Amino acid sequence: MFDTTKIRSQFPILTKEIYHKPLIYFDNAATSQHPQCVIDRIADSYYRVNANVHRGVHTLSIEATEAHEAARRQVQTFINARHAHEIIFTRGTTEAINLVAGSWGNEFLHDGDEIILSVMEHHSNIVPWQLLQRHKAIKLRVIPINERGELDLDAYRAAFNEHTRLVSITHASNVLGTINPVQEMIAYAHEQNVPVLVDGAQAIPHLTVDVQALDADFYVFSAHKVYGPTGIGILYGKEKWLDAMPPYQGGGEMIAHVSFEHTTYNELPYKFEAGTPDYIGTRAFATALEWIEATGATEMHAYEQELLHYATAKLEEIEGIRIYGTARQKTPVISFLANKIHHYDMGMLLDKMGVAVRTGHHCAQPLMSTLGIEGTVRASFAAYNTREEIDAFATAVTKCCNMLR
Ligand code: PMP
Repeated sequence: MFDTTKIRSQFPILTKEIYHKPLIYFDNAATSQHPQCVIDRIADSYYRVNANVHRGVHTLSIEATEAHEAARRQVQTFINARHAHEIIFTRGTTEAINLVAGSWGNEFLHDGDEIILSVMEHHSNIVPWQLLQRHKAIKLRVIPINERGELDLDAYRAAFNEHTRLVSITHASNVLGTINPVQEMIAYAHEQNVPVLVDGAQAIPHLTVDVQALDADFYVFSAHKVYGPTGIGILYGKEKWLDAMPPYQGGGEMIAHVSFEHTTYNELPYKFEAGTPDYIGTRAFATALEWIEATGATEMHAYEQELLHYATAKLEEIEGIRIYGTARQKTPVISFLANKIHHYDMGMLLDKMGVAVRTGHHCAQPLMSTLGIEGTVRASFAAYNTREEIDAFATAVTKCCNMLR
């Protein structure tokens, strides 16, 4: 039995009340909550080991640097990267994709080249490529989905041609929950000599990710969706790519030597980490990863799947509910609409009943257009959620339907 009581007791925010009702937090796909140990680590870092990293000879700075670099190794182990220097700290998934678009894209893409994306991409994996289009005549090819919300793999294979230079694809959809067969997709792309960037923002909280097994060229995600702090993201890149890419931003720590005539750049990973990094956040992220390991990632993932199936069945019992995204492989994310009820109205009423869900287009407007809707109500689960919460949520949704109909 998965001990949710024990897990919940480690998340202080879960005792909060909203409108005098116990908080039911089902907005985990947007950001997850933090266990006490992660919150404590942030305070502890400020109390005991705060000094700027990499630049000091004094003890405090050396300790701070060691903790920051230990966090990098922790991330390396978590996703099974070959080298610690293949882990670049960024502000989040969005910055990591912008880094690849800005650096790799500028270096390796030329007029006439093509990038394959899918229709279910988050804006963070669309707009950085469109920004590149301001300087280069590159084309974006978009893979469609079937009625279950699964990628059309025939269309994917057919999208390749002699101009294809990159596939940039989400591992899991933040709207539909669909888990894409990225390993298979990467293998196919590599047969055509095309590298692949995987947006792992929605996969990393719910799947065990092994970047070497996937053979991903780039894998990006955010700490704040996986029990870690905000403001920390990860760009994993294969050494051969990161070595070949120019710096993304200039400034402190990314240089080897600066003169007004000629500046040389630091080695990996520092080449891509200009300025003081969020070393308080990186350590807290390492603590979050330790917490996941101690709690049992596999058990958490299996339990989250149980919650997904339980909640899906509960919602299906309610008259007039339509679920968007019925893929065979899904993360614990349910997007739905109820008859003609506007998603905002449903979200606001649910909030009054203590239930936090997300409403709107979820930063996936092209997907919304494809589905022919403006937005959905989205409930997304984490390991601290319970069946009792889902029962209360289903009752609340039924009440909303009766009130708004
Ligand atoms: N990609 C996906 C699939 C996401 O779900 C999100 C967050 N909603 C992002 C990218 C962007 O993540 P962040 O805001 O942490 O940069």
